[in-house]
Amino acid sequence: MGPMITSVPGVSKALGLGGWAQRSTWPVPWLTSDTTLTLLGISFSHSIQETTNRIWDAALGHLQGILRTNVGRCFSLHQRVHFLKTDAYSRIVFIGQVLPCPPSSAVKLHSATTKFLWAGRLERPPPGAIFRPTTAGGLAMLHTDLFLQALFLRPIAATVLGPDTCGRFLLRYWLAFPTRAFLHCFTDTPAPMSFFQRPAHIETALRSLKALFGNGLSPPSPLTHRKIYSLLLTPEFVPGHMERAQPLLDWEAIWRSARFLPPPIRESQFLFNHRLLFTRDRCHNIDPRVDPICDRCHLEDETAEHLMIGCPVRQELTAWLQSTLQSLGCVGNLSSWIRGDVGQLPYRSPARLLVAVFVDLSWRTRQRRRLLTIAEIQHKWKSSFPGQQFSH
Ligand SMILES: [Zn+2]
Repeated sequence: MGPMITSVPGVSKALGLGGWAQRSTWPVPWLTSDTTLTLLGISFSHSIQETTNRIWDAALGHLQGILRTNVGRCFSLHQRVHFLKTDAYSRIVFIGQVLPCPPSSAVKLHSATTKFLWAGRLERPPPGAIFRPTTAGGLAMLHTDLFLQALFLRPIAATVLGPDTCGRFLLRYWLAFPTRAFLHCFTDTPAPMSFFQRPAHIETALRSLKALFGNGLSPPSPLTHRKIYSLLLTPEFVPGHMERAQPLLDWEAIWRSARFLPPPIRESQFLFNHRLLFTRDRCHNIDPRVDPICDRCHLEDETAEHLMIGCPVRQELTAWLQSTLQSLGCVGNLSSWIRGDVGQLPYRSPARLLVAVFVDLSWRTRQRRRLLTIAEIQHKWKSSFPGQQFSH
């Protein structure tokens, strides 16, 4: 340190250490290198492996803390998804762009998320419906593992394929040889080859690149995180229980129109259409001691269908619904209408809203063990459509 300081006259004075002449001791300890370096809130150590495991463990603890604090809040399913994506995931989204998420951490993050999303519910929609977009009848929930893979992969793939930079040179050093066939990044110049063992985080990127583009798929342009994520997520549409049971219904219109419904009403319709309303027949399937018979008419099992349109106790109500929907131009039958398939009406039509309000109120009044009235439906239907004129 001494010679370095004295190489320029006056430096030791400028550093506040006093004059150099005849000094035998210095008021500073020997310089030691830190074991960690904190950059943008992430504390890196000399080993990427150690850094990755430590940071993801901390991120999991942080996420679990947030979820524990918020699990008691009165959220609907869609609100829980929104909360997870916007609030709870903000930290792991940040880390996910810098460090690869080890598969074991991804599994733990996913299970913490799932536990929060389904808190207090016994049944869940099929996995397809969880990750599907809302316009296809899903919850648009993130697939944690694939989402984090896409986050980490985007800057790496974009750097490898992007314009000449220092980062691109370094990445090509590690990634060029094994990816040259499918990334087509060395058509113009001969490839610099890597003969050395690649660092762990580069191996992760390489595995993901191979999995994504190694089967003949060409990289989209521009290469956004959203595009990579949708490539990773199975693109094919997997039909749920209801779609398989009633393939003739216009499911596309049912799901697409649902997003125009007010959130609480939409939630009930989502649960009804995914066969998730906790009716007596479902309780009976889970616990045989529960009597499946409808406690209003005592004639048939209380299925969701029976509750909505089959129960003789509610006959006047169903007859009113049927005639109102007919007068609004619905084509088909009541059992299709109740699912939201009302024919060629616009997505924002009053008829679609009426059906959803009917399902929502039927379920809510059933929970409170009282009978629904026509006036109640009319009131909620009209108040859910502000600024719109009605003939009924
Ligand atoms: Zn009944």
